[in-house]
Amino acid sequence: MIDLHSHTNESDGSFSPQELIEAAVRADLRSLAITDHDTFAGYDAAVPFARSAGIDLIRGIEVSSRDGKKSIHILGYFLNTAPPNWFTTWLREQLRRRKNRNIELAAKLTELGLNITLEEAELLGRTVTGRVHFAQILVQKNYASSIQDAFNRYLGESGSAFVEMDDPATEDVVGRLHKAGAISSVAHLGRYGLTPDQEERFVERLQAAGLNAIEVVHTDHSSEDIARYSALAVKYGLLATGGSDFHGRNKPGVRLGHGNAGKTVIPSEWLTRLRHTKLALETLRENYTQGELLESEVSQDPLMLFQQWFDEAEQAEIREVNSMALATVSSTGSPSVRMVLLKGVDTGFLFYTNYTSQKGQELDQNPQAALCFHWKELERQVRITGTVIRVSREESSEYFQSRPRGSQLGAWASPQSQSVPDRTVLEKKFAEVEQSYTDQEIPLPDHWGGYRLLPQTIEFWQGRPNRLHDRLQYQHSEKGWVLRRLAP
Ligand code: AMP
Ligand code: MN
Ligand code: MN
Ligand code: MN
Repeated sequence: MIDLHSHTNESDGSFSPQELIEAAVRADLRSLAITDHDTFAGYDAAVPFARSAGIDLIRGIEVSSRDGKKSIHILGYFLNTAPPNWFTTWLREQLRRRKNRNIELAAKLTELGLNITLEEAELLGRTVTGRVHFAQILVQKNYASSIQDAFNRYLGESGSAFVEMDDPATEDVVGRLHKAGAISSVAHLGRYGLTPDQEERFVERLQAAGLNAIEVVHTDHSSEDIARYSALAVKYGLLATGGSDFHGRNKPGVRLGHGNAGKTVIPSEWLTRLRHTKLALETLRENYTQGELLESEVSQDPLMLFQQWFDEAEQAEIREVNSMALATVSSTGSPSVRMVLLKGVDTGFLFYTNYTSQKGQELDQNPQAALCFHWKELERQVRITGTVIRVSREESSEYFQSRPRGSQLGAWASPQSQSVPDRTVLEKKFAEVEQSYTDQEIPLPDHWGGYRLLPQTIEFWQGRPNRLHDRLQYQHSEKGWVLRRLAP
């Protein structure tokens, strides 16, 4: 059994985090979300108790919002890693608005001749002081017969001391939860006094603002409500959540793990689906936030930045990070392109080849060339243009000797780019060469060696959402490298 909506005494529940976990164990819950108003304090305190009791505890929050005249509650789940700073600041503002409301509320009650102070309420309220704490005092001092009665007479929308809270707009709350990485659900949709038609238009609007789910099962939802909200969720591609909205003694008649006045069990699969969605969003987010290319953060030297990106591609375990497309142009202006392997970076980009190959011939006639790396898992490209020069015989020889023997033999065996009748010709030639070099070092062939591409421009391309990719291009000039941003 699961329950995705509950409160501790860090907001307006009566149970301490420990007592709530004990109640969850008694109710045979496997998973429980603590969704206190505007605070994670109850959840954080409950973590060790949940761990030793074997309860799967979910970090949630319930945020009040305003839609026209109506006060709408939005639930947010899985803000596990410390939420971004702006979110924490925003929650603090929310608490300040609450405090201002409470000051006004206390003043109104005093005006009505009741002996009740803000300090008394705040003593009960711990992290978040709410109307329920005022209600408790009203009951205790015999101004009301029950918490419900206190809301009816004084604190509720038609009560004589009612003060409207200056909450942010519902769509703003939904948008912020989304931006912070939470899965959001509109709480107790049945409590807002909307007609089914209005409910649908409301849900449609929130879905467009980034809402993920509807609280389908809730203590105050009837079987008909549950059926209607299930259908609404399906229609708008939203997930379903369910919670008892447990407040301990502050809200009697609530059964953990159930809605519909304790008659309907909350399906466990709903939580599985929420988690899947959270995971999918996280992966998407990672892919999009891993890349950001800002002028203020990159090196002045593009070869340093290249080395950094190359290392990151290696760390990302991309296969053949050093493979690159090499484009050459013939003396008559025809381009040709093929993949080669980068063998080093210093003042230029090094690669080795057979000098009699098409690329070799073209580079000898026209030294202008271009390179392109594509690290698609990181949504990155590096595009390079420049001029090639042959590397020295010594350097080529040194590299050649570092190659596997089979590759060395292959360089001797293959009549580069010439037409051959079939594969056996190559294999026969290879065997002959192997035979002739038995027990000998294989020398560097005359027709084989390296090129160094000296860069003229280097562009770093980082994929970004909405096709607003980052493109930073370095251009070589007499004064050094000049950096500019190109539009995607
Ligand atoms: P607050 O956030 O301080 O405005 O208090 C809102 C909370 O008070 C809700 O989340 C409910 O837990 C509780 N509440 C609101 N209306 C009533 C009511 N009529 N009877 C009992 N509890 C209520
Ligand atoms: Mn509450
Ligand atoms: Mn609520
Ligand atoms: Mn609640």
